[in-house]
Amino acid sequence: MQTFPLIALENTAQAQEAEAILRSCVHCGFCNATCPTYQLLGDERDGPRGRIYLIKQVLEGAAASEQTQQHLDRCLTCRACETTCPSGVNYGRLLDIGRTVVEQQVRRPWLERVKRYALRGVLPYPQRFAILLRCVQIFKTLMPAHLRSKIPAKRNAGLTAPQNTHRRKMLVLAGCVQPILAPAINTAAARVLDRLGISLLVAPTAGCCGALSCHLSAQADGLDFMRRNIDAWLPFLEQGVEAIVMTASGCGVMVKEYGDIFKHDPDYADKAQRISAATRDLVEILAAEDLTSLKPDVTGTVAFQSPCSLQHGQKLGGTVETLLLGLGFNLRPVTNPSVCCGSAGTYSLLQPELSQRLLQDKVNSLESAVPDVIATANIGCLTHIQSMTAIPVRHWIEVLDMALEK
Ligand code: SF4
Ligand code: SF4
Repeated sequence: MQTFPLIALENTAQAQEAEAILRSCVHCGFCNATCPTYQLLGDERDGPRGRIYLIKQVLEGAAASEQTQQHLDRCLTCRACETTCPSGVNYGRLLDIGRTVVEQQVRRPWLERVKRYALRGVLPYPQRFAILLRCVQIFKTLMPAHLRSKIPAKRNAGLTAPQNTHRRKMLVLAGCVQPILAPAINTAAARVLDRLGISLLVAPTAGCCGALSCHLSAQADGLDFMRRNIDAWLPFLEQGVEAIVMTASGCGVMVKEYGDIFKHDPDYADKAQRISAATRDLVEILAAEDLTSLKPDVTGTVAFQSPCSLQHGQKLGGTVETLLLGLGFNLRPVTNPSVCCGSAGTYSLLQPELSQRLLQDKVNSLESAVPDVIATANIGCLTHIQSMTAIPVRHWIEVLDMALEK
């Protein structure tokens, strides 16, 4: 794609990056075929190719409008378009750059600003989120039925966590909403890795991966969270910790990109690169270990929902399915496995109509597999899908841990 000088970015490293991405797009439109919002809305500007054009125009100096912002807001950041694109266009990165510029030009209505400010001020902070969730759970019965189903039920903390006694050690990201919504996930990961002779540690000063803020176009906040994690984790790597394990694929895709995000930052470029290089999704850790000692009781059937952040973001599609099948689980096939469930970080809160349509389709395809349990790999997808189905939804590591415990 031919470009003119990206005057909105002036002569910055970001301008060069955006220009290279724009030039790699050959305008073929293959990506529209797998874009959920294009499929739902049928408008070129709600597909990846159209959004790339909108961003190009803004970066070249055209004024962004409310419509421009709306079309970019409707993007799920599911990155299915990247998986489909034959030219390897780094759409996700271009969208981040484009959204930041548009955010600076277009002032949102006050209610929208308040909503976004509240989400940014609560979700990345576990203590604040825990208080809010508890209040909402207490007053759940007073709410209208359509809102009640959206409030996640209190989940237990899971089985007993193991002692950290092994010589082999890895870090795990506790995250922001996951320890409040589903504390059993990291406990299950620690228990399974304990059986393989690996102890999981948490760096006390690490926190939100930064994705929530970035999804809300608050890049500066997101970068602060990222720097805090880099500073928290580096000393552990220097002491011989083998890897940084992600149990939420949405966080994993973000942390794996720290190196890329900070590549022009003289203070953090090397450090961020080391963090990203040491980061693994939990499934990558297990896939690299000898699992013959694990003998799960695999009665019952499982339908796996592969999060976009796992299959499109981290390019790890099929890895959890292969692992579970290899351990003997009865995995039921799911139709349209590459389509987003509509959770997408804060998307389900900010774009409820589109999100619910995608969720309904996803639940239909998962329920038609008639599983005893639905497994997934990301806390956002887990709570979103559970809000519309009576079938239990668990992280796949919980399913494995429970099967090992039987
Ligand atoms: S598939 Fe790739 S190259 Fe083709 S229009 Fe979409 S982003 Fe551009
Ligand atoms: S990230 Fe997902 S929703 Fe956004 S343009 Fe790409 S395929 Fe469409």
